[in-house]
Amino acid sequence: MENERFARMQKTTRLHLGMEATETLQRLTDFPDQPKAMDYFYDFFRRTFADGLTLPPRPAEQKVIGTMCLQVPDELIVAAGAKPLRLCSGAYAFDQVGAEMLPAKSCPLVRATTGMLHANHPDWGRELAAVVIPTTCDQKKKCGEMIATMPYPVYNLEMPSTKDSEASRLYWQESVKQFTLDLQGITGRKITARSLQAAITQGSAASALFRRLDDLRKSGGPVIFGKDIFLVTSGYFIDDPERWGNAVHHLITELEERKQAGLTVGNRAAPRLLLTGSPPIFPNLKVPILVEQSGGVIVADEVCSSNRLLSDGVAYDQVTLNDMVPAVADRALKPCTCPCLTPNHDRSRRLVELIRDRGIEGVVYQAFSGCLPYEMEQRQINTTLSGIGVPMLYLETDYSPEDQGQLATRIEAFIESIIARRRKK
Ligand code: SF4
Ligand code: SF4
Repeated sequence: MENERFARMQKTTRLHLGMEATETLQRLTDFPDQPKAMDYFYDFFRRTFADGLTLPPRPAEQKVIGTMCLQVPDELIVAAGAKPLRLCSGAYAFDQVGAEMLPAKSCPLVRATTGMLHANHPDWGRELAAVVIPTTCDQKKKCGEMIATMPYPVYNLEMPSTKDSEASRLYWQESVKQFTLDLQGITGRKITARSLQAAITQGSAASALFRRLDDLRKSGGPVIFGKDIFLVTSGYFIDDPERWGNAVHHLITELEERKQAGLTVGNRAAPRLLLTGSPPIFPNLKVPILVEQSGGVIVADEVCSSNRLLSDGVAYDQVTLNDMVPAVADRALKPCTCPCLTPNHDRSRRLVELIRDRGIEGVVYQAFSGCLPYEMEQRQINTTLSGIGVPMLYLETDYSPEDQGQLATRIEAFIESIIARRRKK
């Protein structure tokens, strides 16, 4: 009886997920002048979400380590011969499964990720050698207890609540050192200085590629929409790194050619916007799509599913584990601007830097209902932005499609107000 109910839920969830992904892809592609090279990413997500969520193919002996937050250093997982798989889910179909298990007031990202692991546990329970959860936000920490009962092997990676002291830095380094040792037990593979060096090189290559792509958004008429950037980075969560890298490389080549030829996507003079807050992850690209359907263009972001994902390299002096493991830990902690950290002045600093660097005319702040850290930090960010004369639109939203009409009205009014400001100037 219980098994039958589960099978029915799984079937319905797969169906809903396929429909949700198809609808998002339709909306993503319904824009003029799309770069041809984006087709790789549209096809990748079409395939991956067509029948539930299928894990990308990999060598049979390779273990998969699921990660539930950007703060997990992927380099160590790669150095241990395993595949890191970022589990943060943006799917409403999985959110609905998670809603049966978690409080109604919890964050949709946490609900969707828990729901995804539950709906897939008969297969993924065998496939995931560990689910790594950093002790960043309370909801992620607590849902780990539930995920462990599904059952998945859950590993808590201890994270400090601040990054501004030497003590917190050392605490995190110790935590990452312990993770390095434990990973060897989980994967049965020794991490050597050489394997870690190769993993760091792979991560740095992806970062460098993403930086080149991101740099193309810095100035001039827009050559790519922000909604497509979020799709590209969502692909990095699950795709094979080499295939992903090749596809990004093709995209950059096409965009450079288009830039030289003076071609843009959409309106050349569209208001230049920055998106910050809770992370947009496919298929939940509702806010970026609405912003760009309303005539704005997202030329920068400060979210852990995009800009913060690939922006910093690992700085080490010697090819020894003693030198490289703390350097990997620093690479993960130093640039972190997640509101789980207190204080989090670095986030305001980063936003001001991006605004000045990219000629930003307005900021869209997305907070998932139930995400207290992002909800609470919006006042502080608003004060900083008011101080430099940049307007901010605060949107509280979730994964359901129901608030689209109301969001669209507010976004359109915000964009019109930016155009009016321009005229006055
Ligand atoms: S919002 Fe913070 S806690 Fe959540 S996934 Fe991003 S970095 Fe991790
Ligand atoms: S969006 Fe907020 S509640 Fe959700 S995982 Fe990130 S920090 Fe935690």
